[in-house]
Amino acid sequence: MLEAANLTKKYKGLTAVDSYSLRVLPGRIHGLIGPNGAGKTTVFNMLTSLVEPTEGRVLFRGEPITGKRPDRIAKLGLARTFQNIRLFKELTVLDNILVAAQIHKQYGFFSAMLGLPSYTREEKALHHNAIRLLEEVGLAGLAHHKARSLSYGNQRKLEIARALALAPKLLLLDEPAAGMNPNESMELMGMIRSIRDRYDLSILVIEHDIPFVMQLCEHIQVLNYGQLIAEGNPEEVRSNPEVIKAYLGRSAEHA
Ligand code: ATP
Repeated sequence: MLEAANLTKKYKGLTAVDSYSLRVLPGRIHGLIGPNGAGKTTVFNMLTSLVEPTEGRVLFRGEPITGKRPDRIAKLGLARTFQNIRLFKELTVLDNILVAAQIHKQYGFFSAMLGLPSYTREEKALHHNAIRLLEEVGLAGLAHHKARSLSYGNQRKLEIARALALAPKLLLLDEPAAGMNPNESMELMGMIRSIRDRYDLSILVIEHDIPFVMQLCEHIQVLNYGQLIAEGNPEEVRSNPEVIKAYLGRSAEHA
């Protein structure tokens, strides 16, 4: 599904990410964890071509995507959410989904202007699909509310629904549980699993909430100071001495 090899990002004197590699298999939920400043966001930004790697390359479904425009990458089937939520806050919940869904529309300018049957048919299908996605994340009842009026947790869910409107094959979630209480995170976990099953997706999650990642993800990588220090299933990662040292070392520094 996604393959990154030897990804490196240097900012002047600082190596933010050093020779990072990843293979995401179809249908799997992967997690990327690491202490603050470990390089997780930089990895996500390189995978989605928002940041150009200093070295290395990314293949999505066998195709090189390094340097491609982010909208082209979205069209190929790679969608993401952001750590700092990026919704159209003044639009309704439904319109946030419809705007994203336009990326796959087939009709042209003239059929839209003339209101031809092909246009009406497709608009209806997009609308129907948008409502279905909102049902999926439990927001259908708020479809006509402004995005701005949603709670923080619901805005995160809307971002996920909007990413799904791109009909992705791979979904990258940047700190989806941030700001959620334990009940909301549990609910979110169930939602992510059900989305994976229903839409046959691969998912890659960055998250600070370690128990969340341990419960949700089948394969986990750990970054520390830009280096991949461990990877494996949750049990392997949990008991890895390097991982324990990275986290305990940092908490001792901050104690
Ligand atoms: P957090 O968990 O706090 O979000 P992170 O693991 O996502 O952190 P990054 O944001 O990827 O870490 O940052 C990794 C390192 O690269 C940090 O030292 C950061 O200060 C540095 N960095 C990131 N972006 C830039 C930039 N545009 N210019 C210079 N340094 C940067």
